[in-house]
Amino acid sequence: MELWYTEKQDDNFSMSYRVKESLHVEETGFQHLAVLDTVPFGRMLVLDGIVQTTEVDEFIYHEMIAHVPLNTHPNPKKVLIIGGGDGGTLREVTKHPAVEKAILVEIDERVIVNAKKYLPTLAKGFESPKAEVVIGDGIKYVQEHKNEFDVIIVDSTDPVGPAVGLFSREFYRSIHEALKDDGLFVAQTESPYFMADLIGRIHNDVQTIFDIAAVYWCIVPTYPGGMWSFTMGSKKYHPADIDDKAQVPYETRYYTPAMHKAALAMPRFIVEQMRSKRG
Ligand code: SAM
Repeated sequence: MELWYTEKQDDNFSMSYRVKESLHVEETGFQHLAVLDTVPFGRMLVLDGIVQTTEVDEFIYHEMIAHVPLNTHPNPKKVLIIGGGDGGTLREVTKHPAVEKAILVEIDERVIVNAKKYLPTLAKGFESPKAEVVIGDGIKYVQEHKNEFDVIIVDSTDPVGPAVGLFSREFYRSIHEALKDDGLFVAQTESPYFMADLIGRIHNDVQTIFDIAAVYWCIVPTYPGGMWSFTMGSKKYHPADIDDKAQVPYETRYYTPAMHKAALAMPRFIVEQMRSKRG
């Protein structure tokens, strides 16, 4: 018998994966959590029916959400990660030689517990001596910290449930206050193909609060449409001002300074859609 897992993007489009085994399923109190072992992408974390990450393609998303901001800032000593309970972003952040401390604030402890058990190649980020974990709401944590971080990374679930507030203008204002005078932040901002209106609205919000706002993207095969966006707000440094011939002093598989620069170029139809939907 063949087992398949299907993630529905909407009533007319879905993505399906052949499953070897369902390893774990639970209701955490915050969300429905499943870990599946799939044929094409290895182990996969699914929250509320939405694929979060897989062993095979996770490096692309995690390298791009971490290394673009860390290499835009000249000295990212203190980093805050909101969400990211699988540990993949933390693993990438703690690789960076300038980072002295990386604090991860995750609302759902069960994501961390299950990542440590079922996704050890991602969760190894938790083993770094630079890492500190706080279980709590990232929105509240950011409101309570001022002028403290060089870089903030918002590695959240989609804008539903506890993550809704992580996509709001008020949250970007609190982030601005939690950053030092030359700080910057990046948030995962969904699919440019399916959610250009949301990205246009976020870009607009970030532009009204930060001196610099930029959107970049990468290809994640297991996210609907493949193309995935990140939005940066920065007080001083522009992500395009990177030496694209520079060498990165740690191992990466997707990220290079040349990819960093290239990722800032957006296809015209997406830019036009983002513009037309800006509120
Ligand atoms: N890479 C993923 C993606 O784009 O699909 C996201 C990875 S990570 C698993 C997202 C995490 O954000 C989840 O574990 C979720 O519990 C956490 N989260 C959601 N809302 C949060 C909040 N308000 N504060 C802190 N963590 C939150």
